Amino acid sequence: MRIDILTLFPEMFTGFLDGSLLGAARASGLLDIRVTNIRDFAEGIHRQVDDRPFGGGPGMLLMPGPVVACAEHVVACGLPAAPAEQAPAGPAAPVILLTPGGRRLTQEVVEELSRRERLILVCGRYEGFDARVRTALGAEELSIGDFVLSGGEVAAMVVVDAVCRLVPGVLGDEESARQDSFSNPGRLVEGPQYTRPREFRGMAVPDVLLSGDHGKIAKWRHEQAIVATRRRDAGPSDRSGEPSTNQSPVPTKKAPELTARAVETTPRSVP
Ligand code: SAM
Repeated sequence: MRIDILTLFPEMFTGFLDGSLLGAARASGLLDIRVTNIRDFAEGIHRQVDDRPFGGGPGMLLMPGPVVACAEHVVACGLPAAPAEQAPAGPAAPVILLTPGGRRLTQEVVEELSRRERLILVCGRYEGFDARVRTALGAEELSIGDFVLSGGEVAAMVVVDAVCRLVPGVLGDEESARQDSFSNPGRLVEGPQYTRPREFRGMAVPDVLLSGDHGKIAKWRHEQAIVATRRRDAGPSDRSGEPSTNQSPVPTKKAPELTARAVETTPRSVP
């Protein structure tokens, strides 16, 4: 998979891209990740990339010229093996603007992005992009959540990290990604996990996990995942498992039974 990141702060990606999982996947050729400085496409002696918003208001906006020129250059570069004239453009190589108001990133969206051959992520700064950038590039918009960061760089890192671990071969054990939170058919969060020692500060590992009965263990884990999902979806004001306004994939009918079982199997105190 090839990923291009367009930013005014390329140095922010140095440690991130060289780190363990991504660094190894890049070295082995599974991932081709390139960072391009938007300022290289700015004109004039000062290489200006931002200006005040028409109509007034605080802060500065990214001017359309440098962002669009940079993105068009990167799109035209194409995949490494393909000649430039055969480079995937349009839908095959969509430009993605990181914006707080874009489509929300979920594991489902991450899975969809991981199936693409190529991603082009554009990091905003200041008060964001001139609206014409989106139209000129036919770009998608992606948000990593309902909060505001100072720039798109951290958002791009979140997207790259989440997407790349799903690219076949990047994780040592692909089964582990299939068992992660939000990755199962019900999009449940993972229940409690334990490793050694068997007892820690008076808390023992639930007996079922030491039973060696794989059927029982799988059933217990599934029940715990349902309980954990209900608890999370209940929100901070209601951790009792009562239905909340949030969407939950857990059938409400089974909740009391499952909650009771979860209490039974919560690590018991060791006398
Ligand atoms: N004025 C913008 C608004 O109210 O929507 C916020 C601009 S923000 C300070 C600067 C840049 O950070 C954005 O252009 C975007 O690239 C990035 N950014 C901030 N929050 C983000 C989020 N939740 N998801 C993705 N990118 C984000």
